[in-house]
Amino acid sequence: MAKRVVIVGGGAAGMQTALELKSRGIEPIIIERDMDLGGKVRDWHKLFPSFTPASDVLQPIIDKVRSSRIRCLLGQEVKTFAEDGVILRSEEHVPADAVVIATGFSLFDAHRKQEYGYGLYHNVITSVDLERMMNNGRVMLADGTEPRRIAILHCVGSRDEKVCQKHCSKVCCITGVKQAIELKQMFPTADVFNFYMDIRMFGPGYEELYREAQQRYNIHFVRGRISEAAQTINDRIQIKAEDTLTGRPLRMSVDMLVLLVGMSANRDNEALAAASNLSLAPNGYFQTKDSFLGAVQSERPGIFYAGAATAPKSLADTLAEASMTASAVERYLRDKYNNR
Ligand code: SF4
Repeated sequence: MAKRVVIVGGGAAGMQTALELKSRGIEPIIIERDMDLGGKVRDWHKLFPSFTPASDVLQPIIDKVRSSRIRCLLGQEVKTFAEDGVILRSEEHVPADAVVIATGFSLFDAHRKQEYGYGLYHNVITSVDLERMMNNGRVMLADGTEPRRIAILHCVGSRDEKVCQKHCSKVCCITGVKQAIELKQMFPTADVFNFYMDIRMFGPGYEELYREAQQRYNIHFVRGRISEAAQTINDRIQIKAEDTLTGRPLRMSVDMLVLLVGMSANRDNEALAAASNLSLAPNGYFQTKDSFLGAVQSERPGIFYAGAATAPKSLADTLAEASMTASAVERYLRDKYNNR
């Protein structure tokens, strides 16, 4: 009989791991809290660094999960872990030979950085709001006009001890570059400024895109963190910053301020860790067995990780990691049942 694996989370990591397991003759069951599969990528318009529409990557995965007849329990949450599977909040027992935690991340709540006025000022939005606007086909100011001057602020809710988020979210620098280019493509005469602490371009093609943003699109990069934003009487946003390269204070008005919100550990990690007797790293993400040969394993045999449950990751890295997770699960099941 096929071995059965419960996957907690039906986003990109959970679905891709399910497909990888299925191709290895293992029966996956996806448990997803939402009523739809797809997770946060559903909100995304285009992916860095290639500008591939997010739906061109996500939809084929969803279609394959469906056509493979992988069982998906939607609108369900795991309450606790049993020796032989998981118990849902509905008290249903789902038996399994192993479990994969693929619960992803939470977005940093921009309201917590009160100095930027998110939720108060009309034209202060987050990078996620901007993706949604792009998905809806129109980026505009609150009064329906087009922005002519836009500032994008990096590291909102990342590398910031004041909000207990010391880690780098890894993907927001390249997201800021991608969004700046998309804004320039939409509004060629607009001025777009990226305010950053460091530019971290770790992936293939990222550095090239960063150069293209400067050389071809004339996007301005200012090294400095915006200290505060205030709304003017004509609904513009006045920002104060320091250009740390020249050492000069800087004050300017923009039509729109985009906050590049970071990836935080999933808000449910604490409850899930307590229910499964797993530990969390100091930043709230799940602690892996080790960083090298056990990066997709937990400290408990039979419980594995996939995707951004353990750290911020790009979609490309998340999809690649799914096959590592599936291989680790397959090895575990083979050892477990061959030794009986
Ligand atoms: S990737 Fe860039 S914007 Fe994101 S937290 Fe790291 S340094 Fe800041």
